Amino acid sequence: MSKSTTRQFQTPRGTRDLLPDDYAIHSHILSHAQEEARLAGFGFIEPPTFEHAELFARGVGEGTDIVEKEMYIFDDRGGDRLALRPEGTASVCRAYLQHGMSNLIQPVKLAYHLPIFRYERPQAGRSRQHTQFGVEAIGVRDAALDAEVIDLGWRIAQSLGLSELKILLNSIGDVQDRQAYVPLLKAHFEPHLNQIAPDDRGRWDRAPMRLLDSKDERTRPFQAGAPLITDHLRPESQAYYESVKSHLEALGIPYEERPNLVRGLDYYTHTVFEIVPAQVEGSQVTVLAGGRYDGLIEQIGGPPTPGIGFGMGLERMAHHLREQGLAPEMSSGIDVFIAALGEGSDIAASRIAGELRSVGIGATLAFGGRSLKAQLRQANRSGARLAVIAGARDLAEQRVTVRDLQSSEQWQVNLDVLAESLMDQLLDEMIDEFSTDFEQILDEDSPDLPYTQAQD
Ligand code: ATP
Ligand code: MG
Repeated sequence: MSKSTTRQFQTPRGTRDLLPDDYAIHSHILSHAQEEARLAGFGFIEPPTFEHAELFARGVGEGTDIVEKEMYIFDDRGGDRLALRPEGTASVCRAYLQHGMSNLIQPVKLAYHLPIFRYERPQAGRSRQHTQFGVEAIGVRDAALDAEVIDLGWRIAQSLGLSELKILLNSIGDVQDRQAYVPLLKAHFEPHLNQIAPDDRGRWDRAPMRLLDSKDERTRPFQAGAPLITDHLRPESQAYYESVKSHLEALGIPYEERPNLVRGLDYYTHTVFEIVPAQVEGSQVTVLAGGRYDGLIEQIGGPPTPGIGFGMGLERMAHHLREQGLAPEMSSGIDVFIAALGEGSDIAASRIAGELRSVGIGATLAFGGRSLKAQLRQANRSGARLAVIAGARDLAEQRVTVRDLQSSEQWQVNLDVLAESLMDQLLDEMIDEFSTDFEQILDEDSPDLPYTQAQD
């Protein structure tokens, strides 16, 4: 006898649902990021979720982990080989070329907010679908622009109240700088190939600079004493790096140099940077990372065109905000809860809810024909400040009862002035609350508001 069971579906491994509380933090982060990007002159772009797989193979680089092991690739019914986007930069550069944006004033500044897909080993801070807010400034190679992009990342973090982050900075030179440097680096690790992590052994050949920031305990001991790219930059690359640092200093942006900071994608040249929590070093904590990619557009079939950008992981940023107690307070959006009592009152309650929403008051009803007591219990949990009790007897006389859910005070209001009266009441309460908050701020000794950035 077969017992029929219905499968309980779960999110695929390495993915999760963004629930309303999470969504509220994401929106909070995004609104700050978008506002800062707008103030720096960025327009917004949204490329499709999938592209020709070849774009990423060329743009991100054959031999990178992303292309080799992590892409979600599929053939569509027409036989095209497509991939869910594993990062945003290649798509935005493709769009820059496709739409002839080199004819616009340079740099072209584009920001985006996109889901990113990578077949990674799921762990805390690392999932198979994450969301990035990113920016790209394409068409100009100027140290001032590098500093501006880093400044934007820093401003976003500051505007969210995050004061305990730090910027890590490095220059990884360009192809020419690396021609001289990479053989030295390979020679340094070569005698230890049998001892370092197997994954890193593979990298030794195809992306040897990645060994420098390997987090694997088997590789780490051999990082000490490795030659550093910053000691092997040509004078012009060195001068560019110095200029980026001077601009950052002029802007008052703190940074720490990390000569072994390299990035996981092939296309980076010169400036690379990360924003990380000041206290925790290690993987899975970087909230924002980026750099200059002067070779990328040529790799994907365009003329030589410089660019710089960053990607910020929203999930990691949200986690960090929560840890720092900086997640915004959630509000349900509901100001008024409408309870109905007696014959025909449910229709009146629906009508009242509609009228309130039309004037911008958040309103909800108790559904399911429950007792008044149950409805009021629900009202108390709804986050609403006021309840409207629409009783059949009151309604017959064109009025309802309004109840303050905090003080339990009640009074009657005529239906024709209900919206207006509720609005007054809600505004009064908001003003009271605001003055209390304001007095508290004035009372506090510390002049350090979370949004103030140290200027010196
Ligand atoms: P990591 O070193 O953590 O693997 P990465 O170098 O792969 O990061 P980027 O490709 O530059 O990261 O992505 C930019 C940002 O996106 C990261 O700094 C991080 O905040 C976030 N991010 C990257 N991969 C993931 C992931 N698998 N899950 C969650 N967030 C991620
Ligand atoms: Mg990664």
